[in-house]
Amino acid sequence: MTTPRSLLDLPPLHAAATIDEWVRQAGLPRYRAEQLKPRLWKTPVGSWQEATELPQALRDRLDTELPLHRFETEVVQTSSDGTRKYLWKLPDGEKIESVLIPTATRRTLCISSQAGCALGCTFCATGLMGFRRNLHPWEIAGQVREVVLRNPDDMPTNIVFMGMGEPLLNWPAVDIALTILNSPEGFGIGARHITISTVGIVPGMLALAARPEQFRLAISLHSPHAEDRVGIMPIEKKYHLKDVIEAAGAFKKRITFEYVMIAGRNDRQKDLDGLIGLALRLGAHVNLLPLHPGGDPTLRPTSPADIRAFAAALREVGVEAVVRRSRGLDIDAACGQLHVKMARKERRVREEA
Ligand code: SAH
Ligand code: SF4
Repeated sequence: MTTPRSLLDLPPLHAAATIDEWVRQAGLPRYRAEQLKPRLWKTPVGSWQEATELPQALRDRLDTELPLHRFETEVVQTSSDGTRKYLWKLPDGEKIESVLIPTATRRTLCISSQAGCALGCTFCATGLMGFRRNLHPWEIAGQVREVVLRNPDDMPTNIVFMGMGEPLLNWPAVDIALTILNSPEGFGIGARHITISTVGIVPGMLALAARPEQFRLAISLHSPHAEDRVGIMPIEKKYHLKDVIEAAGAFKKRITFEYVMIAGRNDRQKDLDGLIGLALRLGAHVNLLPLHPGGDPTLRPTSPADIRAFAAALREVGVEAVVRRSRGLDIDAACGQLHVKMARKERRVREEA
C-alpha cells in the first residue's frame, strides 16, 4: 500500500481516509481508526508509543508504517513579559522559529512558513539570511503541534503567519496548513483568528481570497509610495503597490496594514498622508510596529513619541491604528532574530576553535 510522506502532511479528512484504509487493510476493527485520528492534531501524541490506549504491537507497527514526524527543540527562551520563543530544528537540520505571545485574553502563536526568505526586506533579519527552503504542511502546522506537545495548556487561540518566510510564496503548503489549523478535525482554530501576513504576492492573495473561510489578511505595506517602498522592500519591483491594493479589494473581511516605522524613510508627513489615503480607501486597520534591530544596521527606529503622534494623526481622520507593543525584546523575539543570533554565535565558536 502506498503511504503518504507523512499523515501530518494531509488535510485532516484525507488523513482520516488514509487511516481508515490502513486499518481496513490491517484487518483491524473499525473503532481502531477512530482511536488513531485524534492523535494527529486534536489530542496529539509525539509518537504512537505514547498512545497507551492502543496495544503495544499496534503502536510499534504504526511507528514504522505511519510515523508521526516531529522536530527537535533547539532553544526555548521565555521573556520577562511572558513571550516565549522557540527555535526548532527540522529533520534536515534547517532551523525555524515560532513565538508564543500570551495576553490576558489570548495566546497568539507566530509561525514560520519558510526557512529563511528570498525577499530581502532591508529591515528584516530573516531577509538577511536569504532563502533556505519551503516548509512542508506538517512543518507549518507542526509548530502548533510541538507547542501543544510540550504543554497542552499553551494551545494557541490565535495564529499569525509572521515568523520566518513569505507564506504566499509557499501557497500549496500554506493552503493545506490552513485547513489543518482551522478544521474541526485539526486544531479547530477559527478562521477569523488566523492571520496571513504578506508583502503582497498578488497570485497568492487571490488564491487566499478564493477560500470560503474568512482568514484574515495583513499586508506589509511599510510605505504608501512605490518609489520609497522599493527601497525598503525589493518585491515592489515585481508586485506593484497599486496591484497589491487592488488585489486587497478582493477580501471581504477588513484587512490590516503592517507598517514598520523607520526614521526618515516612512514616517514623514507625505507618508502619513499617503497611508491615510490607502487605509481609508480599503477601510484598513493599521498596525504600527516599532523597528527591532536585526536588519540593516543603518536604519534607525522612529522615536516612540513620533510613533504615538503618527498613530494619533491616523485616528484623528478615522483610521483605526494601534502601536504594536514590542514584546520579547530581551529574547530577540522579532522575526528571524534568534536564528541569526545563533548562527553568529556558532560562527564565532567555530572561528575561536
Ligand atoms: N513575509 C511576511 C510575513 C513574515 S514577516 C511579511 O513580510 O509580511 C512578519 C512581520 O514581521 C512583517 O510585518 C514584518 O514587517 C515584521 N518585521 C520583520 N522584521 C522586523 C523588524 N526588524 N522590526 C519590526 N518588525 C519586523
Ligand atoms: Fe521576508 Fe517578510 Fe522578512 Fe520581508 S519582512 S524579508 S517578506 S520575512
